[in-house]
Amino acid sequence: MHIDARDLENNATIETDICIIGAGPAGISIALDWIGKKEKVVLLESAGFDYDDKIQDSYKGENTGLPYYPLKSTRLHYFGGTSGHWGGFCAKLDPIDIEKRSWITDSGWPISLDELEAFYPKAHELVELGPYQWSVDYWLDTKPKFKQLFPHNDYLWDKIWKISPPTRFGKKYREAIVNAPNIQLYTFANLTNLTTNAEGNLVTEAEVKNLEGKSYTVKAKQFILAAGAIQNARMLLAANKQQPGGLGNQNDVVGRYFMEHIEVRSGELWLVEPNDLALYMLNMEARAEIAVKPAMQKQLGITNGTISLSPLDVANRLRAHSKSWASDDPRQNIAAVQTENKNAEENKITKRFKKHYHIAYSMFSRFESAPNRDSRVFLDTKTDAMGTPLASLHWALSEIDKKSIRRVHELIGQQLGAAGLGRVKVFKFLEDPHNNGWSEGTSGGWHHMGTTRMGTDPKTSVVDANCQVHGISNLFCAGSSCFPTSGAANPTLSLLALSLRLSNYIKGKMSV
Ligand SMILES: Cc1cc2nc3c(=O)[nH]c(=O)nc-3n(C[C@H](O)[C@H](O)[C@H](O)COP(=O)(O)OP(=O)(O)OC[C@H]3O[C@@H](n4cnc5c(N)ncnc54)[C@H](O)[C@@H]3O)c2cc1C
Repeated sequence: MHIDARDLENNATIETDICIIGAGPAGISIALDWIGKKEKVVLLESAGFDYDDKIQDSYKGENTGLPYYPLKSTRLHYFGGTSGHWGGFCAKLDPIDIEKRSWITDSGWPISLDELEAFYPKAHELVELGPYQWSVDYWLDTKPKFKQLFPHNDYLWDKIWKISPPTRFGKKYREAIVNAPNIQLYTFANLTNLTTNAEGNLVTEAEVKNLEGKSYTVKAKQFILAAGAIQNARMLLAANKQQPGGLGNQNDVVGRYFMEHIEVRSGELWLVEPNDLALYMLNMEARAEIAVKPAMQKQLGITNGTISLSPLDVANRLRAHSKSWASDDPRQNIAAVQTENKNAEENKITKRFKKHYHIAYSMFSRFESAPNRDSRVFLDTKTDAMGTPLASLHWALSEIDKKSIRRVHELIGQQLGAAGLGRVKVFKFLEDPHNNGWSEGTSGGWHHMGTTRMGTDPKTSVVDANCQVHGISNLFCAGSSCFPTSGAANPTLSLLALSLRLSNYIKGKMSV
């Protein structure tokens, strides 16, 4: 059922079993998982079914760290969430992403990859990724044109990425949610505060407001914050009427360890013989990116990352996202990027590059950023129109991040040379091992992770292995805010798997 909260009486109280805050991929996937159950689920969404610039304004925020996109434009604030703009590139986390790695401070998840693996197939289905096939062998067999650049290499492997249509959750799942008898979707219902009992170990109600000046209360048995990584932290920090630091923040961890994928053009790969490298090119279903095997990551003491290849000529026609994604308005930015991509594709072969179109490739790094306590989301003194302090961001990277990208290029260069296949040209900003600066073209992938990280120790984590906020028995976080490390894979597929795992846990808790 759909209820426009603007039509409710002021100060109305809504009672439910489960209250999900945020209708993006995380919140919608959990709501879908409860359809047909006897429990009543309330799904709160700040805005309606379409973009609304006044509500989007509450995503405004200052950035005090590394250059980043204007915060207002990095997420979408309406039903379907940021899936309205996502690119649909998906990959699974690797086993090493979950492990405690002695060379990466604060690494290690409190769950095994098998526990996520159980929910990947359903997540995969939600984002319409076709056959559940992730091994390069499957794709080599299926597509005769696909050939590996480094077959049987001791250090490098081909990691498969798959491409969603991309699924727009707000369109694809709207009908299912709105027609479900046990789901109540409230649009224009913006969470502003969470109230706890006197002991602070149970959330009793959520305060909800909208721009029409109305306020409501939602009372529920279980509360799930599924508002995106920056918002999850902001909401916990802003719930500070009873506990000055906010909920779950006794150890000053909420908002910390913010992670983004480091995305940057980093080199060129020149082949001796022309090769269309079809396996690595963008196509409709799947492609490979070059990755480093776990034992070599350990030996080199580096983070995980992949290198994607594209024709140098096409890449040279594109501006870095950090340049083209410059407006506060996400709609303008996405239009600018789409136009640039289209133009670059349409004018693929210029005279200058025609002769080496299948020889010269651009190398693009897509790397995890190591957990860094100083990289954080925190509250501003300015507030949005509903009185909640805005979120500010301080994105920080660590020494190991740049070293990792440099070492991977050296390794690929060595392997390419040893096989007599060609040469790698590393970009200038990576050359000097003593220089920790980043190139102007360095940007993130709009992937916000880690602000309410999972762990067993409340001193370094916000939620436990079941995504429950430490010490608050009925408050959970859903989404990539729970990732303790980010891996190099884009986050949505894994955050869906983690959200479905959380949903399953709550079913167990409520004996469903
Ligand atoms: C341009 C772009 C390209 C991307 N490409 C990819 C990609 O190729 N692959 C990939 O894996 N990821 C990609 N992403 C990231 C992907 O969109 C996110 O990982 C995903 O949308 C996160 O889902 P979520 O549900 O956690 O958060 P969101 O999608 O941000 O949804 C949060 C929801 O909560 C609502 N909300 C927020 N605050 C409140 C509140 N106070 N009260 C009530 N509701 C609230 C919001 O309105 C929104 O609907 C991309 C992102 C962008 C911007």
